[in-house]
Amino acid sequence: MSTAWEGLANEPILDIHPYEPGKPVEELERELGIPGAVKLASNENPFPPPAGVLDAVRRALAGVNRYPDGSGYYLRQALAKKHAVSADSIVLGNGSNELIELLARTFVRRGEEVVLPHPSFVVYPSIVQAVGGTRVVVTLKDHRIDLAKMRRAVTALTKIVFVANPNNPTGTIVTAEEVDRFLHNVPEHVIVVFDEAYYDFADGPDFPDTLAHLRQGKRVVVLRTFSKMASLAGLRIGYAVADPGCVALVNRIRPPFNVNTLAQVAALAALDDEAHVRRTVEAVREGVRMVSAALDTLGVRHVPSRANFIMAEFDDAPRTYEQLLKLGVIVRPLASFGLERALRITVGTPEENARLVGALRAVLGGEGARS
Ligand code: PMP
Repeated sequence: MSTAWEGLANEPILDIHPYEPGKPVEELERELGIPGAVKLASNENPFPPPAGVLDAVRRALAGVNRYPDGSGYYLRQALAKKHAVSADSIVLGNGSNELIELLARTFVRRGEEVVLPHPSFVVYPSIVQAVGGTRVVVTLKDHRIDLAKMRRAVTALTKIVFVANPNNPTGTIVTAEEVDRFLHNVPEHVIVVFDEAYYDFADGPDFPDTLAHLRQGKRVVVLRTFSKMASLAGLRIGYAVADPGCVALVNRIRPPFNVNTLAQVAALAALDDEAHVRRTVEAVREGVRMVSAALDTLGVRHVPSRANFIMAEFDDAPRTYEQLLKLGVIVRPLASFGLERALRITVGTPEENARLVGALRAVLGGEGARS
């Protein structure tokens, strides 16, 4: 039966592995009977959305008998103002994930090349494969995206270059200076997509202002999301900022009501909440310091992170993952990213971080991983 169905499939998708999400807390509790498990596996914001956002969502609930505003008018207006661009420079997505997919489907012709960093967000190679594009994979250097090498990988057939900044799963950034040089040298026919899902955690003087490059006419697309900083991962909403010509093309294939009413309302309310951003950034940076210091003490090698997660290497990552699970702590194995020895740990609340560190101590027996 399965062969028969596979024979019917659009061929390129047969080589794609389904996305493996972090294990849900409920599943762990059900499987192992462990109450109060903590999930540090999907780079979410550990804090709930602010009360004002929840109130706005509650108020909007009674209206969900109607379809959402298909153009996301109010949110796009607000985002346009925030980023000093026109509203027709913005397109909303069902998470920024959907925009990655829409960009690939809009622009990548069969046989054209897409330059991808590796290891990086696993959705890029899957979608390139699905649309019949060719993946040109450029490995990281010292856990960082190597823009010089990405530039050298560009050919006349290259359509898109994806740059996750900060990069998932390493948490490293490419700097303003590196991006300047890259954009100066990259040929005009190439669309450079900066995926800035973790932007707010990394922002600082060395972080590139990619929107300024866009305003100056460079062929760049900037992706942002409300999933991380805004604590709205469960509602699914993100956006792209791009030239209106690009947005108009993406809109031709965007599903009519791809972003639901509650997500739009929540995102609009979240936009003004600078206090939530400040609190989250402070807590996450403190969490990264605390967890990194604990990993150092345990002798676990890890990559210095500018995001809300840390990639660490273990002698036996699958075993460490299982042992942490038994202690009710869910982290993310990275075998699907091609990293057999690594785990990605999302920084949580102070209590969750303390629970993680206690579990790591118990599992590693204070002797560390000595990789
Ligand atoms: N880009 C990167 C680099 C990510 O890590 C993620 C989420 N894990 C996304 C995009 C997609 O986020 P969302 O669809 O929730 O906006």
